[in-house]
Amino acid sequence: LGGSISRALQQMSNATIIDEKVLNDCLNEITRALLQSDVQFKLVRDMQTNIKKIVNLDDLAAGHNKRKIIQQAVFNELCTILDPGKPAFTPKKGKPSVVMFVGLQGSGKTTTCTKYAYYHQKKGYKPALVCADTFRAGAFDQLKQNATKAKIPFYGSYTESDPVRIAVEGVERFKKENCDLIIVDTSGRHKQEAALFEEMRQVSEATKPDLVLFVMDSSIGQAAFDQAQAFKQSVPVGAVIITKMDGHAKGGGALSAVAATKSPVIFIGTGEHMDEFEIFDVKPFVSRLLGMGDWSGFMDKIQEVVPMDQQPELLQKLSEGNFTLRIMYEQFQNILKMGPIGQVFSMLPGFSQELMPKGQEKESQTKIKRYMTMMDSMTNEELDSSNPKIMNESRIMRIARGCGRPIRDVMDMLEEYKRLAKVWSKMKGLKIPKKGDMSAL
Ligand code: GDP
Ligand code: MG
Repeated sequence: LGGSISRALQQMSNATIIDEKVLNDCLNEITRALLQSDVQFKLVRDMQTNIKKIVNLDDLAAGHNKRKIIQQAVFNELCTILDPGKPAFTPKKGKPSVVMFVGLQGSGKTTTCTKYAYYHQKKGYKPALVCADTFRAGAFDQLKQNATKAKIPFYGSYTESDPVRIAVEGVERFKKENCDLIIVDTSGRHKQEAALFEEMRQVSEATKPDLVLFVMDSSIGQAAFDQAQAFKQSVPVGAVIITKMDGHAKGGGALSAVAATKSPVIFIGTGEHMDEFEIFDVKPFVSRLLGMGDWSGFMDKIQEVVPMDQQPELLQKLSEGNFTLRIMYEQFQNILKMGPIGQVFSMLPGFSQELMPKGQEKESQTKIKRYMTMMDSMTNEELDSSNPKIMNESRIMRIARGCGRPIRDVMDMLEEYKRLAKVWSKMKGLKIPKKGDMSAL
Protein backbone atom coordinates (compact mmCIF):
# COMPACT_ATOMS: atom_id res chain seq x y z
CA LEU A 1 0.00 0.00 0.00
CA GLY A 2 2.66 2.48 1.03
CA GLY A 3 4.50 1.50 -2.09
CA SER A 4 1.69 2.29 -4.43
CA ILE A 5 1.10 5.67 -2.89
CA SER A 6 4.75 6.60 -2.97
CA ARG A 7 4.85 5.42 -6.56
CA ALA A 8 1.87 7.54 -7.45
CA LEU A 9 3.39 10.55 -5.77
CA GLN A 10 6.71 9.84 -7.38
CA GLN A 11 5.10 9.78 -10.83
CA MET A 12 3.55 13.04 -9.92
CA SER A 13 6.79 14.76 -9.15
CA ASN A 14 8.52 13.29 -12.16
CA ALA A 15 5.97 14.61 -14.59
CA THR A 16 7.15 17.78 -16.23
CA ILE A 17 3.76 19.04 -17.31
CA ILE A 18 1.21 19.00 -14.58
CA ASP A 19 -2.25 18.82 -15.94
CA GLU A 20 -5.53 17.42 -14.80
CA LYS A 21 -4.72 13.98 -16.12
CA VAL A 22 -1.69 13.65 -13.88
CA LEU A 23 -3.66 14.77 -10.85
CA ASN A 24 -6.38 12.28 -11.71
CA ASP A 25 -3.91 9.46 -12.13
CA CYS A 26 -2.39 10.25 -8.81
CA LEU A 27 -5.75 10.41 -7.05
CA ASN A 28 -6.84 7.14 -8.65
CA GLU A 29 -3.80 5.41 -7.23
CA ILE A 30 -4.50 6.81 -3.78
CA THR A 31 -8.13 5.77 -4.11
CA ARG A 32 -7.14 2.21 -4.84
CA ALA A 33 -4.83 2.19 -1.84
CA LEU A 34 -7.51 3.54 0.48
CA LEU A 35 -10.02 0.97 -0.71
CA GLN A 36 -7.48 -1.70 0.12
CA SER A 37 -7.33 -0.23 3.63
CA ASP A 38 -11.11 -0.76 3.87
CA VAL A 39 -12.09 2.86 3.62
CA GLN A 40 -15.66 2.97 2.39
CA PHE A 41 -16.09 3.52 -1.32
CA LYS A 42 -18.40 6.49 -0.92
CA LEU A 43 -16.03 8.27 1.45
CA VAL A 44 -13.13 7.78 -0.93
CA ARG A 45 -15.14 9.14 -3.83
CA ASP A 46 -16.23 12.21 -1.86
CA MET A 47 -12.69 12.82 -0.78
CA GLN A 48 -11.48 12.63 -4.35
CA THR A 49 -14.01 15.27 -5.37
CA ASN A 50 -12.98 17.53 -2.50
CA ILE A 51 -9.29 17.22 -3.24
CA LYS A 52 -9.87 18.28 -6.80
CA LYS A 53 -11.58 21.39 -5.52
CA ILE A 54 -8.84 22.16 -3.00
CA VAL A 55 -5.72 21.43 -4.99
CA ASN A 56 -5.03 24.29 -7.27
CA LEU A 57 -3.65 23.11 -10.59
CA ASP A 58 -1.78 26.36 -11.08
CA ASP A 59 0.08 25.86 -7.81
CA LEU A 60 1.06 22.40 -8.93
CA ALA A 61 2.12 23.62 -12.33
CA ALA A 62 4.28 26.29 -10.74
CA GLY A 63 6.36 23.40 -9.60
CA HIS A 64 6.83 23.90 -5.91
CA ASN A 65 6.43 20.81 -3.79
CA LYS A 66 3.81 19.00 -5.86
CA ARG A 67 4.17 15.88 -3.83
CA LYS A 68 3.63 17.71 -0.59
CA ILE A 69 0.65 19.69 -1.79
CA ILE A 70 -1.31 16.62 -2.81
CA GLN A 71 -0.16 14.52 0.11
CA GLN A 72 -1.10 17.23 2.58
CA ALA A 73 -4.50 17.71 0.97
CA VAL A 74 -5.33 14.00 1.16
CA PHE A 75 -4.02 13.83 4.69
CA ASN A 76 -6.08 16.81 5.86
CA GLU A 77 -9.18 15.52 4.18
CA LEU A 78 -8.96 12.15 5.95
CA CYS A 79 -8.32 13.87 9.29
CA THR A 80 -11.46 15.94 8.75
CA ILE A 81 -13.54 12.83 8.10
CA LEU A 82 -12.35 11.41 11.42
CA ASP A 83 -13.41 14.49 13.35
CA PRO A 84 -17.18 14.50 13.87
CA GLY A 85 -16.95 17.91 15.51
CA LYS A 86 -18.13 17.01 18.99
CA PRO A 87 -16.07 15.37 21.72
CA ALA A 88 -17.24 12.18 23.41
CA PHE A 89 -18.64 12.11 26.91
CA THR A 90 -15.92 11.79 29.54
CA PRO A 91 -16.79 10.32 32.94
CA LYS A 92 -16.22 12.53 35.98
CA LYS A 93 -14.59 11.25 39.13
CA GLY A 94 -16.90 10.91 42.11
CA LYS A 95 -20.08 11.13 40.04
CA PRO A 96 -21.69 7.89 38.85
CA SER A 97 -21.51 7.38 35.09
CA VAL A 98 -22.87 4.40 33.17
CA VAL A 99 -21.05 3.33 30.02
CA MET A 100 -22.64 0.62 27.87
CA PHE A 101 -20.58 -1.39 25.40
CA VAL A 102 -22.19 -2.67 22.18
CA GLY A 103 -20.86 -4.51 19.14
CA LEU A 104 -21.04 -7.81 17.32
CA GLN A 105 -19.85 -11.02 18.96
CA GLY A 106 -16.09 -11.35 18.73
CA SER A 107 -15.52 -7.64 18.14
CA GLY A 108 -13.71 -7.41 21.47
CA LYS A 109 -16.32 -5.94 23.83
CA THR A 110 -15.53 -7.98 26.93
CA THR A 111 -11.78 -7.56 26.50
CA THR A 112 -12.16 -3.84 25.83
CA CYS A 113 -14.51 -3.31 28.81
CA THR A 114 -11.75 -4.45 31.11
CA LYS A 115 -9.11 -2.39 29.31
CA TYR A 116 -11.33 0.67 29.59
CA ALA A 117 -12.00 0.00 33.29
CA TYR A 118 -8.33 -0.64 34.01
CA TYR A 119 -7.26 2.50 32.15
CA HIS A 120 -9.60 4.64 34.25
CA GLN A 121 -8.75 2.84 37.48
CA LYS A 122 -5.12 3.86 36.95
CA LYS A 123 -6.32 7.44 36.58
CA GLY A 124 -8.06 7.31 39.95
CA TYR A 125 -11.61 6.34 39.00
CA LYS A 126 -13.60 3.64 40.79
CA PRO A 127 -14.80 1.44 37.93
CA ALA A 128 -17.07 -1.63 38.08
CA LEU A 129 -18.08 -4.19 35.47
CA VAL A 130 -21.57 -5.60 34.84
CA CYS A 131 -22.00 -8.65 32.61
CA ALA A 132 -25.30 -8.31 30.77
CA ASP A 133 -24.37 -10.96 28.22
CA THR A 134 -26.67 -13.89 28.89
CA PHE A 135 -26.48 -15.11 25.32
CA ARG A 136 -23.04 -16.59 25.16
CA ALA A 137 -22.11 -19.45 27.45
CA GLY A 138 -19.05 -18.55 29.48
CA ALA A 139 -19.53 -14.82 29.04
CA PHE A 140 -19.78 -14.20 32.77
CA ASP A 141 -16.74 -16.35 33.51
CA GLN A 142 -14.68 -14.43 30.98
CA LEU A 143 -15.64 -11.07 32.48
CA LYS A 144 -15.13 -12.37 36.01
CA GLN A 145 -11.63 -13.58 35.17
CA ASN A 146 -10.63 -10.29 33.57
CA ALA A 147 -12.13 -8.25 36.39
CA THR A 148 -10.45 -10.32 39.08
CA LYS A 149 -7.08 -9.92 37.41
CA ALA A 150 -7.49 -6.15 37.37
CA LYS A 151 -9.03 -6.09 40.86
CA ILE A 152 -12.20 -4.46 39.58
CA PRO A 153 -15.57 -5.27 41.22
CA PHE A 154 -18.00 -7.13 38.95
CA TYR A 155 -21.60 -8.25 38.83
CA GLY A 156 -23.32 -11.03 36.86
CA SER A 157 -25.28 -14.24 37.14
CA TYR A 158 -25.03 -17.83 35.97
CA THR A 159 -28.77 -18.43 36.19
CA GLU A 160 -30.62 -15.25 35.33
CA SER A 161 -31.41 -15.15 31.62
CA ASP A 162 -32.80 -11.63 31.37
CA PRO A 163 -29.99 -9.22 30.38
CA VAL A 164 -32.08 -6.15 31.23
CA ARG A 165 -32.63 -7.34 34.78
CA ILE A 166 -28.94 -8.08 35.38
CA ALA A 167 -27.91 -4.76 33.88
CA VAL A 168 -30.31 -2.82 36.10
CA GLU A 169 -29.36 -4.76 39.25
CA GLY A 170 -25.66 -4.32 38.56
CA VAL A 171 -25.92 -0.61 37.88
CA GLU A 172 -28.00 -0.06 41.04
CA ARG A 173 -25.63 -2.05 43.21
CA PHE A 174 -22.56 -0.18 42.03
CA LYS A 175 -24.24 3.21 42.31
CA LYS A 176 -24.87 2.36 45.96
CA GLU A 177 -21.24 1.38 46.34
CA ASN A 178 -20.21 4.80 45.02
CA CYS A 179 -18.50 3.54 41.89
CA ASP A 180 -18.08 6.39 39.45
CA LEU A 181 -17.66 4.38 36.25
CA ILE A 182 -20.17 1.57 35.83
CA ILE A 183 -19.48 -0.39 32.68
CA VAL A 184 -22.14 -2.63 31.17
CA ASP A 185 -20.90 -5.38 28.87
CA THR A 186 -23.59 -6.72 26.53
CA SER A 187 -24.00 -9.69 24.25
CA GLY A 188 -23.44 -9.79 20.54
CA ARG A 189 -24.55 -12.16 17.81
CA HIS A 190 -22.64 -13.49 14.84
CA LYS A 191 -24.87 -11.58 12.54
CA GLN A 192 -26.80 -8.36 12.80
CA GLU A 193 -30.20 -9.56 13.91
CA ALA A 194 -33.37 -7.86 14.96
CA ALA A 195 -33.26 -9.69 18.33
CA LEU A 196 -29.83 -8.28 19.14
CA PHE A 197 -30.83 -4.72 18.39
CA GLU A 198 -34.05 -5.07 20.37
CA GLU A 199 -32.04 -6.37 23.33
CA MET A 200 -29.60 -3.46 23.09
CA ARG A 201 -32.46 -0.99 22.93
CA GLN A 202 -34.02 -2.46 26.08
CA VAL A 203 -30.77 -2.54 28.07
CA SER A 204 -30.07 1.02 27.05
CA GLU A 205 -33.54 2.24 28.01
CA ALA A 206 -33.39 0.49 31.36
CA THR A 207 -29.88 1.63 32.39
CA LYS A 208 -29.89 5.09 30.77
CA PRO A 209 -26.18 5.08 29.94
CA ASP A 210 -24.25 8.35 29.83
CA LEU A 211 -22.27 6.88 26.97
CA VAL A 212 -22.87 4.02 24.55
CA LEU A 213 -19.58 2.77 23.16
CA PHE A 214 -19.56 0.94 19.85
CA VAL A 215 -16.73 -1.60 19.63
CA MET A 216 -15.57 -2.58 16.17
CA ASP A 217 -13.00 -5.08 14.94
CA SER A 218 -10.57 -3.30 12.60
CA SER A 219 -10.60 -6.21 10.18
CA ILE A 220 -14.27 -6.22 9.20
CA GLY A 221 -13.61 -4.37 5.97
CA GLN A 222 -16.30 -2.66 3.95
CA ALA A 223 -19.03 -3.99 6.29
CA ALA A 224 -18.08 -1.32 8.84
CA PHE A 225 -20.49 1.36 7.73
CA ASP A 226 -23.64 -0.77 7.74
CA GLN A 227 -22.71 -2.38 11.03
CA ALA A 228 -22.08 0.91 12.78
CA GLN A 229 -25.20 2.43 11.32
CA ALA A 230 -27.36 -0.50 12.45
CA PHE A 231 -26.21 -0.04 16.06
CA LYS A 232 -26.63 3.72 15.89
CA GLN A 233 -30.23 3.23 14.78
CA SER A 234 -31.13 1.23 17.88
CA VAL A 235 -29.00 2.84 20.61
CA PRO A 236 -27.53 6.34 21.02
CA VAL A 237 -23.90 5.48 20.17
CA GLY A 238 -21.64 8.31 21.40
CA ALA A 239 -18.14 7.01 20.78
CA VAL A 240 -16.23 4.26 18.98
CA ILE A 241 -13.37 1.94 19.92
CA ILE A 242 -11.49 0.09 17.18
CA THR A 243 -9.93 -3.21 18.26
CA LYS A 244 -7.24 -5.52 16.92
CA MET A 245 -5.16 -2.71 15.47
CA ASP A 246 -2.15 -4.94 16.14
CA GLY A 247 -3.20 -7.15 13.25
CA HIS A 248 -2.83 -6.62 9.53
CA ALA A 249 -5.82 -4.37 9.07
CA LYS A 250 -5.07 -0.69 8.67
CA GLY A 251 -8.47 0.12 10.10
CA GLY A 252 -10.03 2.18 7.32
CA GLY A 253 -13.36 1.04 8.74
CA ALA A 254 -12.84 3.61 11.48
CA LEU A 255 -13.73 6.34 9.00
CA SER A 256 -16.97 4.54 8.21
CA ALA A 257 -17.79 4.08 11.88
CA VAL A 258 -17.30 7.79 12.53
CA ALA A 259 -19.33 8.73 9.47
CA ALA A 260 -22.16 6.33 10.38
CA THR A 261 -22.36 7.18 14.09
CA LYS A 262 -21.25 10.83 13.92
CA SER A 263 -19.16 10.01 16.98
CA PRO A 264 -15.42 10.10 17.52
CA VAL A 265 -13.09 7.15 17.91
CA ILE A 266 -11.67 7.46 21.42
CA PHE A 267 -9.40 4.42 21.92
CA ILE A 268 -7.82 1.64 19.92
CA GLY A 269 -7.04 -1.90 21.06
CA THR A 270 -3.57 -3.08 20.14
CA GLY A 271 -3.41 -6.56 21.66
CA GLU A 272 -5.10 -9.07 23.90
CA HIS A 273 -3.61 -7.78 27.15
CA MET A 274 -5.14 -5.35 29.52
CA ASP A 275 -2.65 -2.56 28.88
CA GLU A 276 -2.64 -2.88 25.10
CA PHE A 277 -4.95 0.04 24.78
CA GLU A 278 -4.21 3.52 23.46
CA ILE A 279 -5.88 6.87 23.17
CA PHE A 280 -6.89 7.33 19.56
CA ASP A 281 -4.81 9.95 17.84
CA VAL A 282 -6.01 11.07 14.41
CA LYS A 283 -2.77 12.03 12.68
CA PRO A 284 -0.68 8.91 13.23
CA PHE A 285 -3.73 6.84 12.39
CA VAL A 286 -4.19 8.58 9.04
CA SER A 287 -0.48 8.27 8.31
CA ARG A 288 -0.74 4.56 8.86
CA LEU A 289 -3.83 4.37 6.68
CA LEU A 290 -1.99 6.07 3.86
CA GLY A 291 1.03 3.86 4.40
CA MET A 292 3.09 6.90 5.20
CA GLY A 293 4.33 5.12 8.29
CA ASP A 294 4.17 8.30 10.34
CA TRP A 295 7.39 8.95 8.65
CA SER A 296 7.16 11.53 5.92
CA GLY A 297 5.95 14.33 8.14
CA PHE A 298 8.37 13.32 10.81
CA MET A 299 11.28 13.52 8.40
CA ASP A 300 10.42 17.10 7.57
CA LYS A 301 10.29 17.99 11.23
CA ILE A 302 13.30 16.06 12.41
CA GLN A 303 15.51 18.26 10.29
CA GLU A 304 14.38 21.31 12.17
CA VAL A 305 14.87 19.75 15.56
CA VAL A 306 17.61 17.17 15.72
CA PRO A 307 21.04 18.67 15.11
CA MET A 308 22.03 17.87 11.54
CA ASP A 309 25.14 15.92 12.50
CA GLN A 310 23.15 13.55 14.71
CA GLN A 311 20.47 12.67 12.22
CA PRO A 312 22.06 9.91 10.15
CA GLU A 313 23.18 8.10 13.26
CA LEU A 314 19.80 8.27 14.94
CA LEU A 315 18.00 7.16 11.81
CA GLN A 316 20.42 4.33 11.32
CA LYS A 317 19.82 3.06 14.85
CA LEU A 318 16.08 3.32 14.48
CA SER A 319 16.09 1.48 11.18
CA GLU A 320 17.92 -1.35 12.87
CA GLY A 321 15.00 -1.57 15.25
CA ASN A 322 17.10 -1.00 18.36
CA PHE A 323 15.20 1.51 20.37
CA THR A 324 17.27 1.51 23.54
CA LEU A 325 16.77 3.47 26.72
CA ARG A 326 19.77 5.55 25.67
CA ILE A 327 18.03 6.59 22.48
CA MET A 328 15.01 7.55 24.54
CA TYR A 329 17.30 9.59 26.81
CA GLU A 330 18.85 11.37 23.84
CA GLN A 331 15.42 12.10 22.42
CA PHE A 332 14.35 13.58 25.73
CA GLN A 333 17.45 15.78 25.69
CA ASN A 334 16.49 17.02 22.24
CA ILE A 335 12.94 17.68 23.32
CA LEU A 336 14.05 19.72 26.32
CA LYS A 337 16.47 21.72 24.21
CA MET A 338 13.69 22.69 21.86
CA GLY A 339 11.71 24.48 24.54
CA PRO A 340 8.02 24.37 23.71
CA ILE A 341 7.46 21.03 22.08
CA GLY A 342 4.38 19.38 20.75
CA GLN A 343 4.30 19.52 17.02
CA VAL A 344 7.25 17.35 16.18
CA PHE A 345 6.58 14.40 18.34
CA SER A 346 2.85 14.69 17.93
CA MET A 347 3.52 13.29 14.47
CA LEU A 348 4.34 10.00 16.11
CA PRO A 349 2.09 7.76 18.10
CA GLY A 350 3.49 7.16 21.55
CA PHE A 351 5.34 10.43 21.73
CA SER A 352 2.13 12.31 21.47
CA GLN A 353 -0.95 12.41 23.66
CA GLU A 354 0.08 10.07 26.43
CA LEU A 355 3.47 11.52 27.18
CA MET A 356 2.75 15.05 26.18
CA PRO A 357 -0.92 15.96 26.26
CA LYS A 358 -1.77 19.20 24.53
CA GLY A 359 -1.77 22.21 26.79
CA GLN A 360 0.30 20.48 29.45
CA GLU A 361 3.75 21.20 28.11
CA LYS A 362 5.06 22.20 31.52
CA GLU A 363 3.93 19.01 33.21
CA SER A 364 5.37 17.01 30.33
CA GLN A 365 8.73 18.69 30.74
CA THR A 366 8.76 17.93 34.44
CA LYS A 367 7.92 14.31 33.71
CA ILE A 368 10.63 14.03 31.08
CA LYS A 369 13.19 15.53 33.47
CA ARG A 370 12.12 13.07 36.15
CA TYR A 371 12.54 10.18 33.74
CA MET A 372 15.99 11.42 32.84
CA THR A 373 17.03 11.65 36.50
CA MET A 374 16.06 8.02 36.92
CA MET A 375 17.92 7.04 33.79
CA ASP A 376 21.02 8.73 35.19
CA SER A 377 21.05 5.94 37.78
CA MET A 378 21.15 3.26 35.13
CA THR A 379 24.22 1.37 33.97
CA ASN A 380 25.53 1.47 30.41
CA GLU A 381 24.43 -2.09 29.94
CA GLU A 382 20.88 -1.15 30.84
CA LEU A 383 20.86 1.94 28.67
CA ASP A 384 22.20 0.16 25.62
CA SER A 385 20.22 -3.03 25.78
CA SER A 386 17.38 -3.40 23.32
CA ASN A 387 15.89 -6.15 25.45
CA PRO A 388 13.44 -4.68 28.00
CA LYS A 389 13.47 -8.02 29.84
CA ILE A 390 16.84 -7.33 31.45
CA MET A 391 15.12 -4.79 33.67
CA ASN A 392 14.38 -7.22 36.48
CA GLU A 393 13.21 -6.50 40.00
CA SER A 394 16.63 -6.07 41.57
CA ARG A 395 17.73 -3.63 38.87
CA ILE A 396 14.55 -1.63 39.29
CA MET A 397 15.06 -1.48 43.06
CA ARG A 398 18.66 -0.40 42.64
CA ILE A 399 17.68 2.41 40.27
CA ALA A 400 14.92 3.58 42.59
CA ARG A 401 17.40 3.75 45.47
CA GLY A 402 19.97 5.46 43.28
CA CYS A 403 17.72 8.31 42.22
CA GLY A 404 15.65 8.46 45.38
CA ARG A 405 12.33 7.88 43.68
CA PRO A 406 9.66 5.29 44.43
CA ILE A 407 9.81 1.98 42.56
CA ARG A 408 6.43 2.82 41.01
CA ASP A 409 8.02 5.81 39.22
CA VAL A 410 10.81 3.70 37.77
CA MET A 411 8.25 1.23 36.52
CA ASP A 412 6.24 4.05 34.95
CA MET A 413 9.33 5.20 33.12
CA LEU A 414 10.03 1.68 31.87
CA GLU A 415 6.44 1.31 30.75
CA GLU A 416 6.81 4.51 28.77
CA TYR A 417 9.96 3.09 27.22
CA LYS A 418 8.25 -0.16 26.26
CA ARG A 419 5.42 1.70 24.64
CA LEU A 420 7.79 3.88 22.63
CA ALA A 421 9.93 0.91 21.69
CA LYS A 422 6.85 -0.82 20.32
CA VAL A 423 5.98 2.19 18.21
CA TRP A 424 9.51 2.60 16.95
CA SER A 425 9.89 -1.06 16.14
CA LYS A 426 7.65 -0.35 13.17
CA MET A 427 10.45 1.74 11.73
CA LYS A 428 12.63 -1.31 11.43
CA GLY A 429 13.92 -1.92 7.93
CA LEU A 430 13.32 1.64 6.94
CA LYS A 431 15.38 2.88 3.99
CA ILE A 432 17.72 5.58 5.18
CA PRO A 433 18.33 8.44 2.80
CA LYS A 434 21.92 9.41 2.17
CA LYS A 435 23.27 12.44 3.95
CA GLY A 436 22.07 15.62 2.34
CA ASP A 437 19.32 13.81 0.55
CA MET A 438 16.62 14.04 3.19
CA SER A 439 14.20 15.83 0.91
CA ALA A 440 14.03 12.72 -1.27
CA LEU A 441 11.74 11.07 1.23
P1 GDP B 1 -16.80 -9.96 22.48
O1 GDP B 1 -17.47 -11.16 21.94
O2 GDP B 1 -17.17 -8.73 21.69
O3 GDP B 1 -16.99 -9.77 23.94
O4 GDP B 1 -15.24 -10.14 22.20
P2 GDP B 1 -14.08 -10.63 23.19
O5 GDP B 1 -13.71 -9.55 24.13
O6 GDP B 1 -14.46 -11.93 23.79
O7 GDP B 1 -12.86 -10.79 22.17
C1 GDP B 1 -12.86 -11.72 21.12
C2 GDP B 1 -11.41 -12.12 20.83
O8 GDP B 1 -10.69 -11.02 20.34
C3 GDP B 1 -10.68 -12.59 22.07
O9 GDP B 1 -9.89 -13.70 21.72
C4 GDP B 1 -9.80 -11.41 22.44
O10 GDP B 1 -8.63 -11.80 23.12
C5 GDP B 1 -9.50 -10.83 21.10
N1 GDP B 1 -9.20 -9.39 21.13
C6 GDP B 1 -9.93 -8.37 21.63
N2 GDP B 1 -9.33 -7.18 21.45
C7 GDP B 1 -8.15 -7.44 20.81
C8 GDP B 1 -7.08 -6.61 20.31
O11 GDP B 1 -7.05 -5.37 20.41
N3 GDP B 1 -6.05 -7.27 19.70
C9 GDP B 1 -6.04 -8.63 19.57
N4 GDP B 1 -5.00 -9.18 18.95
N5 GDP B 1 -7.03 -9.42 20.00
C10 GDP B 1 -8.08 -8.84 20.61
MG1 MG C 1 -18.22 -10.69 25.29
